[in-house]
Amino acid sequence: MAPNPQSSQGSPLDTLQVRAVELRKILQRASYEYYALDAPTMEDSVYDALYHELLNLEKQYPQLITSDSPTQRIGEKPVSQFVSVQHNVPLYSLENAFTSGDVTTWQERCQKGLEKQEFLDSVCELKIDGSAIALTYEQGILVRGATRGDGVSGEDITTNIKTIRSIPLKLNLENPPDRLEIRGEAFLPIAVFDEINQERSQQAEALFANPRNAAAGTLRQLDSRIVAKRRLDFFAYTIHINQEDFASQNLPDISSQWQALEFLQQIGFRVNPNKKLCKSIQELQDYYDYWSTERLKLPYMTDGMVIKLNEFSKQAQLGFTQKTPRWAIAWKYPAEEMPTVIEAVTVQVGRTGTLTPVAELRPVLLAGTTVSRATLHNSDRLAELDLHIGDTAIVRKAGEIIPEVVRILPELRPNGANRFVMPTHCPECGQPVLKPEDEATTRCINIECPAIVRGAIEHWVSREALDINGIGEKLVKQLVTENHVTSVADLYALTSEQLQTLDRMGQKSADKIIAAIAQSQTKPWARVLYGLGIRHVGSVNAQNIADNFPNVELLASASKEAIASIFGIGEEIAQSIYEWFRKGANQDLIQKLQDAGLQFVNTMQESQAIAINPHIAGKTFVVTGTLPTLKRDEAKALIKSAGGKVTDSVSKKTHYLVVGEEAGSKLDKAQSLGVTCLSEAELLELITPFPPKN
Ligand code: NAD
Repeated sequence: MAPNPQSSQGSPLDTLQVRAVELRKILQRASYEYYALDAPTMEDSVYDALYHELLNLEKQYPQLITSDSPTQRIGEKPVSQFVSVQHNVPLYSLENAFTSGDVTTWQERCQKGLEKQEFLDSVCELKIDGSAIALTYEQGILVRGATRGDGVSGEDITTNIKTIRSIPLKLNLENPPDRLEIRGEAFLPIAVFDEINQERSQQAEALFANPRNAAAGTLRQLDSRIVAKRRLDFFAYTIHINQEDFASQNLPDISSQWQALEFLQQIGFRVNPNKKLCKSIQELQDYYDYWSTERLKLPYMTDGMVIKLNEFSKQAQLGFTQKTPRWAIAWKYPAEEMPTVIEAVTVQVGRTGTLTPVAELRPVLLAGTTVSRATLHNSDRLAELDLHIGDTAIVRKAGEIIPEVVRILPELRPNGANRFVMPTHCPECGQPVLKPEDEATTRCINIECPAIVRGAIEHWVSREALDINGIGEKLVKQLVTENHVTSVADLYALTSEQLQTLDRMGQKSADKIIAAIAQSQTKPWARVLYGLGIRHVGSVNAQNIADNFPNVELLASASKEAIASIFGIGEEIAQSIYEWFRKGANQDLIQKLQDAGLQFVNTMQESQAIAINPHIAGKTFVVTGTLPTLKRDEAKALIKSAGGKVTDSVSKKTHYLVVGEEAGSKLDKAQSLGVTCLSEAELLELITPFPPKN
């Protein structure tokens, strides 16, 4: 019996019905654009996730199902000028799996359906991202090629199919059966796809969204000369055999998918060589993992792995649902974009007082990890998105970057949803915030704001700054909340006894922290300057500035122009430094830190080192990749101690790029600009005649 929606988490059926109607509408439009127009406007992963939401709703409440629901039909009715043809055997879709758990569930379901306890041998094939086509051979001769269409009927595209060279017009069989149905994937190699799009862009034509849509669009071209030019390719993966027909022609007994793939190859088809007959879940997992990276090296696109029970007899026993075979599943590779619901928006205050709105998300699996928060950047971005609480948003995570909200699907906005507006007061200290007209950022300007104080201390103690061990985020929070510390200068007045009053802090740890704080008094002026957390002043810039202004007095009294004249320091940075030193509170801070014994002047050694190594002095270096023995920071420090400059990006002004393993775009850029590249050993050789004097 279907659950009573009234009682489920208090969600009335009406609300779910509205969501189902909206989902159906959005999926139907996407499906039409995708299948009928070959011009999708939505990411596949987004389509899949919304589709699954609808599928789950309909599973829970079958009374919500309608016959036109995308969950009830395969593809779309074709809208072209080709003749419509009925398929002899329908072309099904595939159920999707997104996790190894989904695959295990599928395998267990198959076992249960067949009343088996053991793993059922399964063939893994790459899921080629192209367009399914159905080929009919009569007495070994290709008589018809058709698109999948809505699975029941497709379009007769025989003339176009005949232009694909990897599809035999005649089978390599002495005694062919009367009729043979072959299915497979027509696809465009990535290189050809790129060429086509380049041509289209030159002719100001609309670009294809991806190779799959380009393949589908090409197959449905009315002019087969254009099709021939586009060099489509084909992998065969299914054969429909009438066993009696086969036996009468003395053809081999084909009783499994593995044998079918071999047979397809023998009779003249191109079969993807990347396939494996797996005998355990672990083997499926290993094969999937292997191809998760290897697939990126293939000259064609794949979007997952298709897993099929090997034995035809087992396939036949399990049969089909309305839409998919029960004996196969498509295990998709993780997507970098997914839709999810924004349940709330919180506002974080950073160390410089910047207010960042953060979307609190219904957790979603994205590129292999569960994501529950995404940055919304600033109020301009919020306005652009027109974000309302409860909105469905597309969230993206590319590489290691923090997830972000890419766009909103306003069609799925719940009734009565409220637009989110940035607060007028700081959520941490309650003071009014500042949002200059010409800036996107909203900022708390209360220097006593606990968030700013915490941020400033966390930055001060960090490894690249004063490198004070033992003071982590939690301790900083306690120190600020308990009012032991209101600025970084207060750290130097802390006593071990004071620390021992804090949660879980013994005498030993407290003494260690006090010693680490004292140790920081010996850190060079450049580190202190970086530790002050002046906007836009990173560690490399701080070193450059300290090299040019060997003490704080010189820097504090320097003009904007003098600061901007330093190599690598632009006007924005100069302005920020200049303004920082003009503020009374900052002048007081410097005084307190000087009184506490911190270094605000370059030592003799630091000043001298700059001039003495002629190979290094005045030269600009960039360090990239993982070096064999030195950490990147150590290499940079070494260069600087020998009088070299270190910047973060490669330009025409760069003299040397120090390259380690897994160097990325910086190496490419350096090579294209003809910048000299050095290994760690070569760098050390350059430095050795003038060893650093530390
Ligand atoms: P599918 O693409 O998920 O899987 C079935 C297809 O896989 C088959 O038809 C066949 O073409 C292909 N395939 C590739 N290699 C195969 C192999 N070795 N063995 C068997 N089949 C293989 O299912 P579908 O019904 O074609 O399409 C549904 C998918 O289409 C959705 O998952 C979605 O990603 C996409 N879609 C996207 C939009 C959009 O707007 N972006 C709209 C509709 C559908």
